[in-house]
Amino acid sequence: MTIEPLLVSATRRHDTHRVSIGAVEVGGNTVPVIAGPCAVEPGYVEHAIAAHRAGASVLRGCVLKPRTRPGSFQGLGAAGLPLLDEAKRVTGLPVIAEPLAAEDIEVLRGHVDALQIGARSMHNTPLLRAAGQSGMTVILKRGMSATYDEWLAAADYVTTEGNRQVILCERGIRTFETATRNTLDVSAIAVLRDMTDLPIAVDPSHAAGAARWVPSLAVAALAAGADALLIECHPDPAASLCDAAQAITPQVLSRIVQTSLSLCAMTRPAVAGTVAECRAMIDTIDDAVFRMLEYRAAMVGAVQEQKSAALLPERDLDREQEIVERLSRQAPRLGEQRVDRLVHAIIEECLDAVPVRPEAAVA
Ligand code: PEP
Ligand code: MN
Repeated sequence: MTIEPLLVSATRRHDTHRVSIGAVEVGGNTVPVIAGPCAVEPGYVEHAIAAHRAGASVLRGCVLKPRTRPGSFQGLGAAGLPLLDEAKRVTGLPVIAEPLAAEDIEVLRGHVDALQIGARSMHNTPLLRAAGQSGMTVILKRGMSATYDEWLAAADYVTTEGNRQVILCERGIRTFETATRNTLDVSAIAVLRDMTDLPIAVDPSHAAGAARWVPSLAVAALAAGADALLIECHPDPAASLCDAAQAITPQVLSRIVQTSLSLCAMTRPAVAGTVAECRAMIDTIDDAVFRMLEYRAAMVGAVQEQKSAALLPERDLDREQEIVERLSRQAPRLGEQRVDRLVHAIIEECLDAVPVRPEAAVA
């Protein structure tokens, strides 16, 4: 019997609509991680390079910040645009930023590959219409008290202008809980999948409000089938001019990216990229394969101990044949002969790693 992993694409109902952020596709068979500091600030190009090295596929960095308090850092404004341009040039990654008002869209055009509409702006219908008219890709964050219907109605303001390049972004909602900044609504990923074909991104940073909880929420979002992650990352989190408490380091970002790649490899069809991207994926797969082989060897050891106590033979050739047949169905590209050779090599090497049983014999 084959048991499919109960993760991610296995639960998909629709063919998700594909949306582009520059050359990066959201809603396909990869889960891009959009990352960078909350705000574009002095040193941004270095911060962007660090996010790129950690595996980000898209850079975030807002030049205009929607802050709760007027005294807080409001962003560098137009002075931040050359930093965005330089980060884009040096890393080759697409960039997203947030317009606060309709007139900001033309200021950002030419500098960014997608517009982020922030949670506080989800109800700003003139801004939504203008984003729709711009024809640019829109990442529409969920308002902090918006229902799914209200959120999708906000998306309709963009799409009715003829722009279906829309990604929804769950970023946590206001609940009675105060330990976290917001409460990440993981249900949104499953439920919206039944309500719309638009891709769904998740921002664990603004949900958690604290860096130490971001990886758990990111992995929960990946397991539930998020199409992209949006994460705040800074090489020196405490020095961030905005949202310092929730910024993760590039090292932690890199672990989240690896987890995302591993889950994609387990649950989605392979997607070819550049040589560097394919090699990164191969490294991730090799890591996962060898971690699993280590676990497999431990299981084989436990089985052998019990077989030994029951005086049963070390090998069961009928079971080995069943394993070859089952795995051949899962790996048609490799074909039955190759799977046969691989399976027997794995079986023998795992047995070889188990302490020797002098009395063992083949069934
Ligand atoms: C942000 O992404 O920096 C931001 C302000 O998020 P939100 O609109 O979700 O609060
Ligand atoms: Mn922020």
